[in-house]
Amino acid sequence: MSPTEPASAPLLEVSGLAKSFGDHEVLRSIDFTLHAGKVLVLIGPSGSGKTTVLRSLNGLEQPDAGTISVAGGEVEIDFGLPVPVGKRLALRDRSAMVFQHYNLFPHLTVLQNVTEGPIVVQKRARADAEAEALALLERVGLGDKRDAYPFELSGGQQQRVGIVRAVALRPQLLLFDEPTSSLDPELVGDVLTVMKELADEGWTMVIVTHELVFARQVADEVLFLDGGVIVERGAPERLFTAPTQERTKQFLNRLLFPF
Ligand code: ADP
Ligand code: MG
Repeated sequence: MSPTEPASAPLLEVSGLAKSFGDHEVLRSIDFTLHAGKVLVLIGPSGSGKTTVLRSLNGLEQPDAGTISVAGGEVEIDFGLPVPVGKRLALRDRSAMVFQHYNLFPHLTVLQNVTEGPIVVQKRARADAEAEALALLERVGLGDKRDAYPFELSGGQQQRVGIVRAVALRPQLLLFDEPTSSLDPELVGDVLTVMKELADEGWTMVIVTHELVFARQVADEVLFLDGGVIVERGAPERLFTAPTQERTKQFLNRLLFPF
């Protein structure tokens, strides 16, 4: 890029995001930006508001204040004003979420789980959606499970279907909420490998995870949330090895030495 060219606008800009449940202020004022192709990792204690941030980005939660802007303002919402339903749905369309507990539809096969969104919501042609879904399932080693039901799969397999389901929506932003925290330890690696490949392919991702070795490999930036604010942020190699805030140090220490 020549010095005269303006830097490209971030894919995602979040400013002053706040959310209370009753008198519990879960998010106080959250600010961050994320450029296309970058990976942001959120860490923080249970109850610090990580899931609420992801759900707000995905239009599942309505913040009380703040703004979210996607794709240089193609979708821009000021939550301090009444939000039209159409805008909230537009925000939702830009991202896809991978959940802690997979959240697959139990009565649908693997292939149906993956193609439901593209066919029913996005109105894509069934043949195209199925071909793409199968190619994605093959890539994560689940081509032979297309007709299986979720209960027939291990947690690691279910979560790989969850990831394929999100990718099949072709969102601009992939959101992951502690995607490996429900898995038996020996199943974690396959899921992280898939996520690492997506990061290498250039997907823009926001990931809540406490897999620090993985986070260090994929994250461009790490945010440490506590008490509804970003206590510290930085590149993983700096934040994980030389945190400046006492709360960050304590949290990382507890992760590394839980007892
Ligand atoms: P984290 O993902 O960091 O553990 P969450 O964003 O899930 O944190 O939750 C932050 C706080 O908000 C928690 O204390 C949680 O109990 C509360 N909370 C989340 N969702 C709701 C809700 N729908 N109603 C009431 N309280 C909620
Ligand atoms: Mg959570």
